[in-house]
Amino acid sequence: MIGSLLRRVRFWLSGWFRPAPPARYALAYVDSDELPSVIPDRTVVVAREAGELWSAGLICPCGCGRRIELMLLPKVKPRWDIRESQNERPTLWPSIWANDGCRSHFWLRDGMVEWCKD
Ligand SMILES: [Zn+2]
Repeated sequence: MIGSLLRRVRFWLSGWFRPAPPARYALAYVDSDELPSVIPDRTVVVAREAGELWSAGLICPCGCGRRIELMLLPKVKPRWDIRESQNERPTLWPSIWANDGCRSHFWLRDGMVEWCKD
């Protein structure tokens, strides 16, 4: 009786402490030719000027806290494309690869992080 109650409490606690599923990235724009010094967590901030998208910034989804900046201008290399889905979630391509530090490699599709297994 007590045992089953404890099991139930433990089951409930394990659910409580289970890591939350990764939150989806939101999309925000700033009218500037540069990204803000602080980028909110789980947000892709896009710098645009006169309708032209310059760059996108986000905080690495692995939790390392690094700032990732991606160029969106058509004539630079490397560059990324960004698309806004109907529910205002960002999709970026190609995949994003941190070539130092945490070495995260992931896709961002409709605000969801899809990790690449390297
Ligand atoms: Zn990272």
